[in-house]
Amino acid sequence: MEQGDEGRERLRRLRDEIKGRIDYRTFYLRYCRSANEQSSNARFQALCPIPSHNHSGRGNPSLSVDVQRGLFHCFSRDEGGDVFRFYELMHDVSFGRAINELACELGIRNTSKQLPLRFRAAPDAEAILQSETYEPLDAEQMQAICRVFLEVCDDEDQSEGINYLQRRGIDRKTIKRAGIAYFPRRAYRRVMRRMAQNFALDELQRSGLFNSREHLTFYRHRLLFPFRVENRVIYMQARTTAAGIEPRWHNLRGNVPALYNMDALVGLKSNSIVYLVEGFTDTLTLSAHGFPAVGLVGAGGLREEWLPQLARFQICLALDPDEAGRRAAQRYVEMFARRRAVAACIELPSDVNDFFRHRASAALEFALLTEMAIEKKV
Ligand SMILES: [Zn+2]
Repeated sequence: MEQGDEGRERLRRLRDEIKGRIDYRTFYLRYCRSANEQSSNARFQALCPIPSHNHSGRGNPSLSVDVQRGLFHCFSRDEGGDVFRFYELMHDVSFGRAINELACELGIRNTSKQLPLRFRAAPDAEAILQSETYEPLDAEQMQAICRVFLEVCDDEDQSEGINYLQRRGIDRKTIKRAGIAYFPRRAYRRVMRRMAQNFALDELQRSGLFNSREHLTFYRHRLLFPFRVENRVIYMQARTTAAGIEPRWHNLRGNVPALYNMDALVGLKSNSIVYLVEGFTDTLTLSAHGFPAVGLVGAGGLREEWLPQLARFQICLALDPDEAGRRAAQRYVEMFARRRAVAACIELPSDVNDFFRHRASAALEFALLTEMAIEKKV
């Protein structure tokens, strides 16, 4: 244990060092997927993610973040503070632990003690450092790393991953078709070793698969969803299957390069209906029921340059029935309209996965809702 004064002094020093290096905007955005960034540069609003506030997730954004000063305030619970307070609330940890963990993420050396594995495995926080840059891998190297990583993971016991997806109504055939892979926590070191045998450390680090501490960063996130384009895996995102872990997603470096599940559209006839939904689970839920679907990462993620690939289909949006989803749907209808394309919108009482899990006749109802939405547009 540390002596009182000395310990406090060390925390003060670390706190100041963190404040000097952290990028507030990126830090808060990690936790606020629904952020409305357009509002202004100095501030943004988002749905408040603080677990103890128990927000429904459906109302108006109640969290306001001042990205210049690094302060947050939740209007609905009248609680606010700085990044350390926010970290305490998000992870339910003490002030001291918040400081130590943030320092560790930012690569600030703070103790001589060996850190627990979950810290050594934590992704580098270059992204939340102000000045750090790295040279991205070229597409071919990235694809090779993705391919081998999936193969290595696939050699491990898949059952926890498969169970997790099956509990959400996604069947084995769909899981296999989507190329999803998993590895259990106990296989972590073996998976890490095999990747280190196959690639140079520098490549692994530049891809984001390994961190600067030479550890595999996919430690809490071990259910892997590959993005395949023309039969090649070009990117990966991974989900945690445990409850209460934030952030729930971890991915390789770089921006999401495509819609999820694009390869499913390859053999599809022109003019077929294609659903545009939020996230992997909704995409795979529709796939499992025979509805061709592609997925966005987050409601706001559609990029203009992806629209031409969808031009030969009838697009039907089925985003989440929340504020972010509705706003995004409206924006996308306009984006399609500018290209003289018509996008229909289905609004379900819940997200797609919930809808299919809780209604026996969901597929039939969904087909009818589609028909109605398309008729309304024509
Ligand atoms: Zn709140």
